[in-house]
Amino acid sequence: MDLNIKGKTALVCASSRGLGRGCAEALAEAGVDLVLNARGAQALEQTAQEIRDRWGVKVTTVAGDVSNEDDRAALIKAAQGVDILVNNAGGPPPGLWSDWNRDDFIKALDANMLAPIALMTALLPGMIDKGWGRVVNITSGSVKAPIPQLGLSNSARAGLTGYVAGTSRQVAPFGVNINNLLPGIHDTDRAASLDGGVSKAQNISVEDARAQRIATIPARRYGTAADFGAMCAFLCSDRAQFIVGQNILLDGGAVNATL
Ligand code: NAD
Repeated sequence: MDLNIKGKTALVCASSRGLGRGCAEALAEAGVDLVLNARGAQALEQTAQEIRDRWGVKVTTVAGDVSNEDDRAALIKAAQGVDILVNNAGGPPPGLWSDWNRDDFIKALDANMLAPIALMTALLPGMIDKGWGRVVNITSGSVKAPIPQLGLSNSARAGLTGYVAGTSRQVAPFGVNINNLLPGIHDTDRAASLDGGVSKAQNISVEDARAQRIATIPARRYGTAADFGAMCAFLCSDRAQFIVGQNILLDGGAVNATL
C-alpha cells in the first residue's frame, strides 16, 4: 500500500531510540523528511545519519528536552510548516501512590501532557492552513487499563487523552487528524528498566521478570519498535483520513477487554 505521504515533513519527538525511533524509521521508509529530537545530541546525530543512509530522506536534528520551554521553542522554530507531528517523551518513574508530591506530578504533566499540547498548539495552525495534517501522540496502554505503579503516567496521559478527544474534533474539518497510539510492552530501554523494577520488587532475576511479563501478553512476546512504527506511519498517512480522535492500543492482546 502506498501511504501517499512521500515528500511530506514530520517532527518526531524523543526519537533517538525506542518507539520514537521506530516511528521515524517507518515515516522515512514512506519517503517523509524528518525533524528529529532527543535530549542527547550524540545519539540523536547518530540516529539521524543512520536514517539518512538507510532511507535517503532529509533529516534535521534539534537536541533538547521537550518539557523545557526554551528547548521546545527551538524545536518549534525548526519544525515550522511540518505536515506531521509525532509527540513523545520519556515516561515518568514507577512508584507507590504515597511516593509522589506536587513537583513529581508537575514534572510528569510537563513531559507527558503539557509538552505535547504546546507542540500541537504551535504546529496545528500550519497544518490547518494547508488543509492537511496528522498528529500521533504516543501515550500508553495505561490509558485503557491502569498500571498501578505508574500513577504519574496514568494521570498525565489521561489529561492528554481528554484534550485530544475534544481538540481532534475541532481540527478534523480542516483535514487535520489527531490520534493517540497506546503502547503495551515494547522491547525498548524503557521496557528493560521496567523489567528491572519488577525484578527488584519481587526479588527475582531480570530474565524471570521478563518471562513473567511476557506471559501476560497473548501474543507471547514484547512488541518491537518496528511494529509500533508501522501503525504510526499508517495513522500519519493519507489513507487514515477517516480516523479521528481514536486511542489505538498496540499490546499483543494484553488488555483483556472486549472494546
Ligand atoms: P525509551 O526510553 O526507549 O526512549 C526514549 C527516547 O526519548 C530517547 O530517544 C530519549 O532521548 C528521548 N527522550 C526521553 N525524554 C525526553 C524528553 N523529555 N525530551 C526529548 N526527548 C526525550 O522509551 P520508549 O520505550 O521508546 O517509550 C516512549 C514512550 O512510550 C514513553 O513515554 C513510555 O513511557 C511510553 N511507553 C512505553 C512502553 C514500552 O513498553 N516501551 C509501554 C507503554 C508506554
